[in-house]
Amino acid sequence: MDNLSPSPKALVPFVSVDHMMQLIHHVGIEPMLRGLADYIEADFKRWELFDKTPRIASHSAEGVIELMPTSDGEVYGFKYVNGHPSNTKKGLQTVTAFGLLANVGNGYPVLLSEMTMLTAMRTAATSAMVAKHLMPKGADTMAMIGNGAQSEFQTLAMKAVCGLKSVRLYDIDSKATEKAARNLSGMGINVVQCDNAEGAMEGAGIITTCTADKQYATILTDNMIGAGVHINAIGGDCPGKTELAPAILHRADIFVEYPEQTRIEGEIQQLDAEYPVTELWQVINGTAKGRTSDRQITLFDSVGFAIEDFSALRYVRDHIKGTGYYIDLDLLADPDDPRDLFGMLIRAAP
Ligand code: NAD
Repeated sequence: MDNLSPSPKALVPFVSVDHMMQLIHHVGIEPMLRGLADYIEADFKRWELFDKTPRIASHSAEGVIELMPTSDGEVYGFKYVNGHPSNTKKGLQTVTAFGLLANVGNGYPVLLSEMTMLTAMRTAATSAMVAKHLMPKGADTMAMIGNGAQSEFQTLAMKAVCGLKSVRLYDIDSKATEKAARNLSGMGINVVQCDNAEGAMEGAGIITTCTADKQYATILTDNMIGAGVHINAIGGDCPGKTELAPAILHRADIFVEYPEQTRIEGEIQQLDAEYPVTELWQVINGTAKGRTSDRQITLFDSVGFAIEDFSALRYVRDHIKGTGYYIDLDLLADPDDPRDLFGMLIRAAP
């Protein structure tokens, strides 16, 4: 990435929620989802370069707060993100986030950004990038189980990257389904509202589960899953929080971002610690097999990994240049004499 030195006054570009929304509209929702998918795929191809660690989680009865750091040796990034399933009842988001990129050479931050919008965009772009590699040939219908904050993003990314033509929506709360259907109308995709999960799955080659519940939930049971489908399981992303019946895991070939993190947080926490899974970066590099037959069930056990956030921040940094979609923040103390921090304080006395 170029342009990583701080500006002469060491101001740090900050992208607010408002500016992020303007940037997304400026680029276009679907072009940006495609662009993010390309950035994420490019970083998965250079996976081995990155510092990797399972995210650092602080759990409470209500939810979780997590830090997600990584570095490619030149640029360091982290995201702060929460997951609080009961928040929506209080009028708050389940997931909110912000993140930062820094220059590894001098440690100075070079971008601070909101990441609630960006997380929805990057999670959807990752799902679609992975589905492109694993979904059954010609699949153009998706069942979307869980029609909350992430659902429209998931749908549009599958349209933009994988050519999805039809989405079949189901949520235990019909108001959520109505909201998603309303938001997706006029977006060039056929939208069907369904009364139950089985109905949503009729004719679907891709099944996305994106529900929020802090428990071992069973959104999909074994009998619902026919041969040959691709399951994009988004909502099981915390210890004790899963969506799929274990029998499905035994029938599927399971693909993960970073096994060390997914074994703690993903659907595979329900399996033995040694259960075989395939790392997606190897499929993308061509060193591991993806889909090998029409009848194979492929499962992306998505939990969200730091490299995807790093890619998304990299995309934002590259695309805000020359736009007005950020402000410069006075975030770093920058005395003329680097050792005279105290002198700078005294000179600032009122
Ligand atoms: P949200 O609270 O806005 O929406 C969740 C929806 O699921 C709600 O509408 C709820 O009614 C519905 N739901 C709950 N139980 C259900 C059931 N049994 N059947 C059908 N619908 C059900 O949450 P969100 O922001 O859309 O996030 C959804 C999930 O995705 C969360 O669990 C979140 O932690 C996870 N997530 C994962 C990633 C990732 O990278 N894998 C990224 C972001 C969010």
